Amino acid sequence: MIDDSCIFCSLANGKIPTNVVYEDGMVCAFEDANPMMPVHVLIVPKDHYSSLNDEIPEDVLGHALATVKKIAEIKGITESGYRVMVNTGDDACQTVHHLHIHVLGGAPMTEGSPRA
Ligand code: 5GP
Ligand code: ZN
Repeated sequence: MIDDSCIFCSLANGKIPTNVVYEDGMVCAFEDANPMMPVHVLIVPKDHYSSLNDEIPEDVLGHALATVKKIAEIKGITESGYRVMVNTGDDACQTVHHLHIHVLGGAPMTEGSPRA
């Protein structure tokens, strides 16, 4: 289901234009508006799930995670490496309450940073 009041629902479903990196029937991956690394892509299910705590079908979850590898290939960071983050809830500073997977890379990172 799509939530008309949710910005990521609008972006992932093409209702608001954005820089799409990859798209299929289930997910849309687009550039983060405030990138923390040279590569910073968000993988977003087209249906609305508020976070990992939501009731997410395993095929959606699996497909979203499998998309990480595709994004790495598209962005040319497969060999150099990358960081994958899913901020969940207040303590993790989740700011957009539509599930999204951060894919960060394109330069060396330290152990604890960045925290998207
Ligand atoms: P969170 O803190 O919820 O894990 O991450 C939300 C991310 O969404 C942030 O990295 C932020 O820069 C990004 N973001 C917030 N609003 C927009 C938007 O309207 N468009 C895009 N492309 N990214 C956004
Ligand atoms: Zn949404």
